Amino acid sequence: MNTNLLLQNLRNVPDFPKPGIQFKDVSTLFKQPECLQEISDELFRLYKDKGITKVVGIESRGFVMGAIIAARLGAGFVMCRKPGKLPAVTRQATYLKEYGTDTIEIHEDAIGSDDVVLLHDDLLATGGSMQAAYELVKQFNPKGIYANFIIELCMEGLDGRHALSPELEMTTLLTLHE
Ligand code: AMP
Repeated sequence: MNTNLLLQNLRNVPDFPKPGIQFKDVSTLFKQPECLQEISDELFRLYKDKGITKVVGIESRGFVMGAIIAARLGAGFVMCRKPGKLPAVTRQATYLKEYGTDTIEIHEDAIGSDDVVLLHDDLLATGGSMQAAYELVKQFNPKGIYANFIIELCMEGLDGRHALSPELEMTTLLTLHE
C-alpha cells in the first residue's frame, strides 16, 4: 500500500469540533481518485479471502469505504446508525462516552447467523463506537466478525485498540501518533 500517498492527502484540522482536538479529515482522501482506489485495493487485499458476506459501516464516514469494499467483496452493506434514523424494527446498543451515553442501531433483519461480518469505520479514537457496534453485531450471532479502520489514532490518553474485545480481529491502514 502507498502509505505516503494517503498521509500526504489526509487533512488535519486543529481544534475541530472543539479546542484541543486534531481532526483527521478523510474527505481529502475520498475526493482524490488515487486515494480512494488505494484504500479500496488495500481493503480488498486484506479481506478477499475471509468469506465476508456483510460489511457494516458506522455512521457516517464509515459508510463511504464500507459500501465500496462491500461491492468489491461481493458482500452486502449494512448501515449502523444513530437512533431514530432507520425506518424499520431495529436492535440497539448503548455505550458510555466521555460525557453521557450514545446509542447505535441496526435493522433487525440486516444480519443473519450465516453471515461473516466486516465492521468498518474511518477512525479509531477511544474505541467506544466500534466496541458498541461489535457488541450489537454479536447479538445477531454471525459466523465471524472482523473490524477495520482507515486510521488508528495513538495519542496520550487514547487507547482505542485495547478498548476493543481481544477476540475481535482488527486491521488499520494508517497509524497516526499526532
Ligand atoms: P471513538 O468511538 O472514540 O473511537 O471515535 C471514533 C469515531 O469518532 C469515528 O467515527 C470518527 O469518525 C470520530 N472521531 C473521533 N476522533 C476523531 C478525530 N480526531 N478525527 C476525526 N474523526 C474522529
